[in-house]
Amino acid sequence: MSAERKPVLDLDVSAARKDFPALHQEVHGKPLVYLDNAATTQKPTAVIDAIDRFYRLDCSNVHRGVHELSERATKAFEEARTSVKRFINARTEREIVFVRGTTEAINLVANSYGRSHLKAGDEILISALEHHSNIVPWQLLSDQVGTRLVAAPINDDAELMLEEFERRLGPNTALVAVAHVSNALGTVMPVQEIVRMAHDRNVPVLIDGAQAVSHLRVDVRELGCDFYAFSGHKVFGPTGIGILYGREDLLDRMPPYQGGGDMIRSVTFEKTTYNELPYKFEAGTPHIAGAIGLGAALDYLSRLGIDHVTDYERGLLAYGTELLESIRGLRLIGTAREKAAVLSFVLEGIHPHDVGTVLDRLGIAVRTGHHCAQPVMARFGVPATTRASLAFYNTKAELDALADGIRQVQQWFKL
Ligand code: PMP
Repeated sequence: MSAERKPVLDLDVSAARKDFPALHQEVHGKPLVYLDNAATTQKPTAVIDAIDRFYRLDCSNVHRGVHELSERATKAFEEARTSVKRFINARTEREIVFVRGTTEAINLVANSYGRSHLKAGDEILISALEHHSNIVPWQLLSDQVGTRLVAAPINDDAELMLEEFERRLGPNTALVAVAHVSNALGTVMPVQEIVRMAHDRNVPVLIDGAQAVSHLRVDVRELGCDFYAFSGHKVFGPTGIGILYGREDLLDRMPPYQGGGDMIRSVTFEKTTYNELPYKFEAGTPHIAGAIGLGAALDYLSRLGIDHVTDYERGLLAYGTELLESIRGLRLIGTAREKAAVLSFVLEGIHPHDVGTVLDRLGIAVRTGHHCAQPVMARFGVPATTRASLAFYNTKAELDALADGIRQVQQWFKL
């Protein structure tokens, strides 16, 4: 623990919960227990107010007008970029590209970097527990360019088999693309080692951080990764905004992803020259309010202290794991030693959709299905799971409610 880190007790969860208006409501006559944070997180008033202020007072386009509102909007938009840079410890704002979300960030890299730097026969190495958005863009690239997708296996605890991963890092590997944290099962991937192994062979690494940023400290310089993607809405910010971090020298060498306004320096019918980073990758009017909201979300999380969040959630996960393990007929899927606060499970004889529906009647929001990670479901021989995914505003009492709810589901189905 570093010297400036404060004790765990400093995360005052009941005070923090007050910042999230949506948590304080009843659903089907029961207090809401929101355990679907891997799908999207709730928003604090700091975020709602920042968006409200933009639309009430500062609404204007950015980088264009000389008038006061446009200057205010541009300032707020660019300050948000600085908040993102600070939050992930990037070197410069030029490395921070606003995109729609993780999905668009990965598609940007596949289209821009992939089509300009990769060729037929090159391999893209991923893991067996990726979200579809870190699989399908690479398959599209394979169709276009002739690259090949290779997946490194995971063990029965849903941990990456590092030796197997390293064995697949061969002479044809041209890019590694892995999740930082698995959305379906919660595994925290050994990204530091993955980056080291890949860089030893001069292979760049993209990390899908969609599920990491709300749980763990992310320092792109310490990780040494080449690209890092995440979505605003999974880190207490708005939907429709996300980040592609890219190392400046790499982004510099990549062609634009989309053409249009703001990404150009000059246009004639004969020749167009492109704007500097990061604007080269931000064609068209951006999601200005979204970026401002995301900046507010990251500032909020920084004030709370991401290390406190990690510590608190570790305790919550241990408590929830023990509770669920004590339920007869429940099988936890995903038991990695390094795990973020996700509890994915199946109940003997009851379909996950039925579990989710009954829990909803009790006011408990969980996700059921394949979680956009069908290959990992196939690996564990299940079509779907029920997933309770936690955030720092969840409590042990809510996990007690979940466990009670699951027992009620079992009674309902008389198992
Ligand atoms: N990767 C992971 C690990 C995710 O959990 C998600 C969202 N479930 C995505 C990518 C895609 O994120 P988005 O839909 O916000 O683009």
